[in-house]
This record gives sequence, structure tokens and C-alpha cells, in this order.
Amino acid sequence: MQLSQVSRDDICLSCGACCAYFRVSFYWAEGEAMPSEMVEPLTAVYSCMCGTNQKQPRCVALQGEVGQAVSCGIYTVRSESCKEVQAGDQQCQKARLAHGLIPIVNLDLASSNDEGYDQVS
Ligand code: SF4
Ligand code: SF4
Repeated sequence: MQLSQVSRDDICLSCGACCAYFRVSFYWAEGEAMPSEMVEPLTAVYSCMCGTNQKQPRCVALQGEVGQAVSCGIYTVRSESCKEVQAGDQQCQKARLAHGLIPIVNLDLASSNDEGYDQVS
């Protein structure tokens, strides 16, 4: 397999650091689709995932071991906040660093600067 074929989803399935680093909050109505025991009120209009509003956060929906193999127990109804974090972005790198995981290097192979080089066949 070429490195460029490793999808972001695959990377996340062996990570999960962002699910155990941030307080995961969202507009309360998003929580209506989630199991009620996994959601707790935060303010009048915001809720958060249980387990994330504490000193060493870990979302209650996170299954598995961070940095090994993980999955989200409510993947299809996870909040927009969860979807916002992308492998390789600033939040991701912060969370991975906190869990002792190496940063993700984004290689933008589409915009190469090798016009001056000829392909040797
Ligand atoms: S920290 Fe980054 S790589 Fe890890 S699960 Fe979150 S988005 Fe994916
Ligand atoms: S709901 Fe799922 S994606 Fe969101 S923090 Fe929890 S385990 Fe991670």
C-alpha cells in the first residue's frame, strides 16, 4: 500500500486522541439523537459528551484504547464538534501530542513543485 492511500479514517481508527483530550460540547438539540446517558447539560443551550468535562477527559462513547485501536460508539449521530476535527489539523496535533503520539504529516502530493524535473522511465 502506498502512503498516499492511507485514509484519514484509517488514521483515526488507530488514534482517538481528540476524543480523550477536549471538552466535546455542542448545541443541545444535537444531543437529542444521542443516547441520553451519554450527554450532559453544560449551559442553557449547550450540552457536552459525558466524560469530556473533566480534568482528564475521555468521551464515554469512545471504545478501545487511545493510540491502538478505537471506534466511536455513536459514530452516525456524533456531534458537529466531533466532525470538525480533521486528521492533521491543529486540534488533532495538540491532542496527539498530549497522548504521546507522533504528529500527522500532511503531504499535499497534488500540488507538487517538480515541474523542472523529468520523469526517468
Ligand atoms: S487526534 Fe487526529 S488522528 Fe487522532 S482521532 Fe482525532 S482527528 Fe483522528
Ligand atoms: S462522540 Fe465519538 S467522535 Fe465524538 S468525542 Fe465521543 S467518541 Fe469521539
